[in-house]
Amino acid sequence: MSSNPSKIDPKEFRDINPGERLLMGPGPSDVPARVLQAMAAPCIGHLDPYFLGTMNETQQLLRYIFQTQNALTIPVSATGSAGMEACFVNLVECGDEVVVAVNGVFGTRMCDIVNRIGGKLIRVDCEWGRAVDPQAVAKAVKGKPKVVAVVHAETSTGACTPLSDISKIAHEAGALFLVDCVTSLGGINVPLDEMKIDAAYSGTQKCISCPPGLSPVSFSAAAIKALEQRKHPVVSWYLDFGMVRDYWGNERKYHHTAPINMIYAIREALRIIAEEGLEIRFARHILNHRALVAGIEAMGLSMLVPEKERLPMLNAVRIPEGVNDLKVRKALLNDFAIEIGGGLGQFAGKVWRVGLMGHSSRRKNVILFLAALEAVLKAEGFKAKPGAIEAATAVYAA
Ligand SMILES: *Cc1c(COP(=O)(O)O)cnc(C)c1O
Repeated sequence: MSSNPSKIDPKEFRDINPGERLLMGPGPSDVPARVLQAMAAPCIGHLDPYFLGTMNETQQLLRYIFQTQNALTIPVSATGSAGMEACFVNLVECGDEVVVAVNGVFGTRMCDIVNRIGGKLIRVDCEWGRAVDPQAVAKAVKGKPKVVAVVHAETSTGACTPLSDISKIAHEAGALFLVDCVTSLGGINVPLDEMKIDAAYSGTQKCISCPPGLSPVSFSAAAIKALEQRKHPVVSWYLDFGMVRDYWGNERKYHHTAPINMIYAIREALRIIAEEGLEIRFARHILNHRALVAGIEAMGLSMLVPEKERLPMLNAVRIPEGVNDLKVRKALLNDFAIEIGGGLGQFAGKVWRVGLMGHSSRRKNVILFLAALEAVLKAEGFKAKPGAIEAATAVYAA
């Protein structure tokens, strides 16, 4: 290729053709063909009556998956991290006290954002690989926090934090309850209204099985009140819900151009979820998780997170002694086209993160992955105990 930027030969740029992959990492997950087809529909104007109808339907479908009546339920035009930032910048002003529970990478990201806004951060450090301890949060909400924030599904470790106790603690302190549902939404139960969650954000590429690019967010009436009673303007222009709300609401006031074809995509992904039904979808995630764990344990490997605190869609498997993390992941990708994730932070090189998210959470993927891992480990000189496939199959048969 020429090094002169003014002289390029278009023929040197081939068609995009990444080939097939099985996405079993921490996201993105496999995208159903229907979603990709929806994205290929004609791009129309963002104030076109047809598109306005599509926006309304997308909001309806988002309220269904969030199980909420919240009027302000929209897809933010950027990935999950933007949803995280949107929740904090809209609700937290300089000097506001914010309690953040940290039991993995995404909790630390919340802390970073609170610090950048100038919030008064009260960080509750919990053990990584475990659920957040509600007692530790209770001890931290001694003052008058404006927000108590927690990650429901810590994708960096595979730990699931139950929400009801922490919700109660937050509300008794008069705080808003903010929850990261990026990995949980569409995979396990996230009943916003029932759990009295005031602000929630998610992402498209985890259990919703849509390409990355949007972040579903929902604000309760109390969160909107906090937004309306701010003393200072929201520090981010792009994520200011005061203005974004006027575009998604009846005013249809131009703020930014919605990513039209991404909205088509999430609408279709949500329609697929509604067709399956939330209960059946959650049960499917649990079943495939149980089969995977049965296979992993039959091989003589072990899980990072204690059984009762595990997420079904993100499975952190301890890397056995003497096995090379990178070599195994490379072989899975090169020889079997399977993508899994490595560990993050203190678990880098110590665990594999195996995703069973949304469309990727399927029996054929579980069996295929177990067989592939067995073969790759054997080539690496690690002799797994026999019977993984049988153990997984037994879970499906029961
Ligand atoms: C993936 C993820 C995010 C960040 O989402 P992006 O789409 O990568 O910006 C935030 N929180 C959790 C728990 C996640 O799993």
